[in-house]
Amino acid sequence: MPETPPLLDSYGRPHADLRISVTDRCNIRCFYCMPNEHVIFQERSMLLTFEEIERFVKVAAKLGIRKLRLTGGEPLVRRELPVLIEKLAKIETIEDIALTTNGLLLSRYAQALKDAGLHRLNISLDALSAEKFERITRRKGFRQVLDGIHTAQAIGFEKIKINAVAIAGLSEEEIVPFGHFAREQGLEVRFIEFMPLDAEQNWQSNQVLSGEKIITMLSEAILPLVPCPRPDPSQPATDYQFEDGRGRIGFINPVTQPFCSTCNRLRITAEGQIRNCLFSQEEWDARSLMRKGGTDQELSELIRACVLAKKAGHGIHSEDFHRPARAMYQIGG
Ligand code: SAM
Ligand code: SF4
Repeated sequence: MPETPPLLDSYGRPHADLRISVTDRCNIRCFYCMPNEHVIFQERSMLLTFEEIERFVKVAAKLGIRKLRLTGGEPLVRRELPVLIEKLAKIETIEDIALTTNGLLLSRYAQALKDAGLHRLNISLDALSAEKFERITRRKGFRQVLDGIHTAQAIGFEKIKINAVAIAGLSEEEIVPFGHFAREQGLEVRFIEFMPLDAEQNWQSNQVLSGEKIITMLSEAILPLVPCPRPDPSQPATDYQFEDGRGRIGFINPVTQPFCSTCNRLRITAEGQIRNCLFSQEEWDARSLMRKGGTDQELSELIRACVLAKKAGHGIHSEDFHRPARAMYQIGG
């Protein structure tokens, strides 16, 4: 139980889940996230150190944070990431540590991640052909990602999830192969709707391939999909299974079926800015507070202030919606 009152926002949503970005750097350039060239990264001295991240998590854990997800940019390009995981795994009240990765460096690091105490892995892969992978990521590496998935399975990571961003006009021919992939590999494939967070700001609403359309495509081509029970109402994905029980498919539909009303997530960017939403226009500066000698009590108050200011929803569909100034790789997905 938290020692202090729970981390509630003004709509009564308790916050128990923290997404930590460890870098804004990446080894590929997915068009829905990063610019292709001339990326301006944060200076290294601006990034939170592992000790600063650990301190932040300890304070957040006292407020009721129980689950962590490390992300980026590509978290595995941050040197010695397992050392950070080891530190976080020692924090008693943290129940779950997960990592979202593009998988390119996973073969190299999977064992060290497991040994450090990482519980769960989400691996992003949007296509099952090298040609389509390279069109989306604008870099090579398809084989490396598949090898990374297989290594992670071989060393015993369970419940691995594959994240695939679904984009109209591009992903349709990948859907059925992914359905078969989920069935054959015993992995959950999660389709994520394309959100307006691409650095090049080309997102159009007609590029969103909805979860509903994908359910129809899979049910017609393979077998009907049936919903799975949902033990945790705050989880963003709705999960389905093929009727014969083989192959799990998840859907994260932030655009067509926003799940803001049950959101329990808080984020901290690689340079230590706390955000209460991917689409937030405001940030709370934990790095400056920590570096100028702020106390844990002050840090705790900063976290509370950020959560309290959370809006009811992301407002993508409202007329006065403005995208955040920063793109996905700068926030942490
Ligand atoms: N580099 C790691 C990776 O790709 O898995 C972690 C960071 S990435 C920003 C986290 C997740 O956000 C990935 O699954 C990625 O596909 C997803 N993502 C990035 N930009 C997105 C967008 N505009 N809309 C929806 N999902 C997006
Ligand atoms: Fe890199 Fe992940 Fe963004 Fe792709 S989605 S460019 S892998 S940070």
